[in-house]
Amino acid sequence: MKAAVFYGKEDLRVEEVPEPTEVGPGQIKVKVGYAGICGSELHIYYYPELVPQISDTPHPLTGAKLPQILGHEISGTIVELGEGVEGLEPGDRGAVFPMVASCGECSACRHGVPATCKLMASVGANAPGGGLSEYLVVDASKFHRLPEEVSLRMGALVEPMAVGWHAVVRSEAKAGDSALLVGAGPVGIGAWYGFRARGIEKVLVSEPNEDRRAAIAALGATVIDPVNEDLAAAVAKLTDGEGVSVAIDAAGAQAAFTSALESLAPGGRLSLVAMHEQPVQFNAAGVMLGQTEIAGSVGYDPEDFDAIIEAMSRGVYSAEGWVADRELEEVVDAIEELHAGIGSKVLIRIG
Ligand SMILES: [Zn+2]
Ligand SMILES: [Zn+2]
Repeated sequence: MKAAVFYGKEDLRVEEVPEPTEVGPGQIKVKVGYAGICGSELHIYYYPELVPQISDTPHPLTGAKLPQILGHEISGTIVELGEGVEGLEPGDRGAVFPMVASCGECSACRHGVPATCKLMASVGANAPGGGLSEYLVVDASKFHRLPEEVSLRMGALVEPMAVGWHAVVRSEAKAGDSALLVGAGPVGIGAWYGFRARGIEKVLVSEPNEDRRAAIAALGATVIDPVNEDLAAAVAKLTDGEGVSVAIDAAGAQAAFTSALESLAPGGRLSLVAMHEQPVQFNAAGVMLGQTEIAGSVGYDPEDFDAIIEAMSRGVYSAEGWVADRELEEVVDAIEELHAGIGSKVLIRIG
């Protein structure tokens, strides 16, 4: 079968590899439909030295080592069931939950944050197999079935939408709330849809980049350019001067964090999903006097996948205008273009 195999820094080859034939107890073999690529693949491709989990040494939990098939945003169709798999059939379509192993013993694992486990292993990175290949064997428990109304193409968007969705879950937003979303990259788009799916109609999206702003506006979002427009005035207008109930920082810069925090109404909650490279400063007295909460959000849970699939079946999501399709042979071009800032979301068509 064909697969995109990562050998090392800026060395990703589309080549013939053996098709996985062993489907163990509790596992399924999946014929991949689509596999998305995102910042994670860019990170691995350009800066593998910063990703120590991917190396020549076998991963302690999964045994995976270089060369590694990439791709962790995966949809596909079951072609074979291992022994003892119940409730699934060949022909079932689904999205694959890529985080397949964590140590179960560290503080992060024991406190319900396995995404932060140092041994967290993900398909397409440091567990055997990846979505950028024709077939993949995974545990059946990682397969989230898609209903009739949800296409394989949408199915591959479940994982990239899940980070933003989880940030909305962490914001504890409920129907009728107002929200400020700072940052409209792929995580921001996921958060915006997360708000919509939960019945939050009053959402203001702040994004300085013109292309990103236009992309999310085309999905129906109300947008603002925080550099050239008055964000505080826009929040006041949206909320009759009260401030928003929740805010999400999906940008990761000091100015973004500050405006998200300062837009909150008393008792409001800021969900922080962006990876800040630098420490931020904030008005602690304001947090104290407003009894404001700041909640971190990392990765996603299996329940987030099911909730997104349910929202997709209601027609909440659209891939119109912000998702580009490419072939497996074009995967390196696609990575280079994303790196150059062209486009925002790429799906590789496999099956
Ligand atoms: Zn991703
Ligand atoms: Zn752990």
